[in-house]
Amino acid sequence: MIALSEISASVARLQATFSTGKTKSAQWRIEQLKRIKQMTLENESKILEALKADLGKCELEAWNSEISYITGEVDHNIKHLAKWMAKRKVKTPILAQPGKSYIQAEPLGTVLIIGAWNYPYQLTLAPFVAAVAAGNCAVLKPSELAENTSKLLAELVPQYLDTDAFCVVEGGVEQTTEVLQQKFDHILYTGGETVGKIVMRAAAEHLTPVTLELGGKSPCVVDSNTNLDVTVNRIAWCKWMNAGQTCVAPDYVIVTRDFADEFLVKMKQKIEDFYGADAQKSPDYGRIINHRHWQRINNYLQNQNVVYGGKGDERDRYLEPTLVLNPDLDSPLMRDEIFGPILPIVVIDDLSDAAPLINSRPKPLAMYVFSRNDGFVDSLLGQTSAGNVCVNDGMMFMANQDLPFGGVGNSGMGSYCGQSGFDTFSHLKAIMKRSFALDLDVRYAPYSDKKLKMLKMLR
Ligand code: NAD
Repeated sequence: MIALSEISASVARLQATFSTGKTKSAQWRIEQLKRIKQMTLENESKILEALKADLGKCELEAWNSEISYITGEVDHNIKHLAKWMAKRKVKTPILAQPGKSYIQAEPLGTVLIIGAWNYPYQLTLAPFVAAVAAGNCAVLKPSELAENTSKLLAELVPQYLDTDAFCVVEGGVEQTTEVLQQKFDHILYTGGETVGKIVMRAAAEHLTPVTLELGGKSPCVVDSNTNLDVTVNRIAWCKWMNAGQTCVAPDYVIVTRDFADEFLVKMKQKIEDFYGADAQKSPDYGRIINHRHWQRINNYLQNQNVVYGGKGDERDRYLEPTLVLNPDLDSPLMRDEIFGPILPIVVIDDLSDAAPLINSRPKPLAMYVFSRNDGFVDSLLGQTSAGNVCVNDGMMFMANQDLPFGGVGNSGMGSYCGQSGFDTFSHLKAIMKRSFALDLDVRYAPYSDKKLKMLKMLR
């Protein structure tokens, strides 16, 4: 484990490695990417154990959202690396002819990746894959709240990857504060808004660019003109996966009054189809990360109209899948991001009330709409803003590496995943290469009206 007093020297060591140029070749990048995959596959059972201990994560969810997510990112990056590293040609204007123009991605240097605890393997390593593909050195700072996964990453990364180029710093506020005092060439932070501001303030000291992957209250609008069976399947899947601790889980559902009862009956039934009458006994249902978060989520239920669930067992960090009908829109449940297994159902009179309701809150990380009516969907998307949107499903955009992932407004800035991740960790250098031929003197002094006329013609 890297001690507090060793952090500054560790970062300096990575910076020295970067300056040798070692990380720039495609060969080195591909080798390191392959080792990330190898590390993930060879240690699958250890990763599953750590995720089970941290979050009670079942094997299928852990494999799908953490292990195969990372191996998939590695494969995608290796497959497209040559194209992303190649010159990206653009047109050259008449005034600069003969000449060529292109964009060349170059690595930024030494970057910092601060991960969150809810998908602790995925959220630390997916940005790392992008940083490696882009040819950078990197410091990884996994979340201390998922302590088993953090420890495992600190053990495995130096075993598999180039220790001159990468290191893992474990720890909480003290260690992160020390890391943030170092100068990086980019910082990608995943977590809540409050720490996001701390990261951005620290980055400003060094004029370091940041990508902030934050959260927010992601709305889910359900039109009565929908396939209700499929709709409840998909909402329940992404709401109660990882016991609701997913940044892009639907935070609350919006339905019209005439449809609310039917929706509620189906959703209650769906919870029992998924997890049985007692979800605490289900091997598929996760646990809350720690007691502080258990208390925080439990407190949201005070003075609420709980129509399903609502019970918990603090010693087991268990909270039932819970439905709240018609919450007070000014209550903490509807002000804060829930980040837990409570689904409030907000009832509106008319679908046209959905957009103003969504717009009355900060821009969310994700938005969902279930409807057969394309006109309604287009109008809702046109009136609202969100980091990522899925129509007629929940969070499936995460499965498409050709889509950038990131927030907008208070839900974050910048993005990663696939090429957007490569570009985030690269400087896209603009290059123009001129020929010595045709050295028109229209732009050179002494100026004249004739030259001005000519310039205007050439524009
Ligand atoms: P967290 O408490 O795990 O903090 C994240 C990181 O910040 C950790 O590595 C931690 O060590 C560090 N940190 C904590 N306090 C600090 C301080 N005072 N100074 C410096 N560093 C500090 O994360 P969290 O805030 O509980 O995470 C939950 C939030 O993250 C939710 O809002 C969720 O929506 C969001 N999230 C977003 C994404 C995304 O991809 N956009 C993914 C997961 C979670």
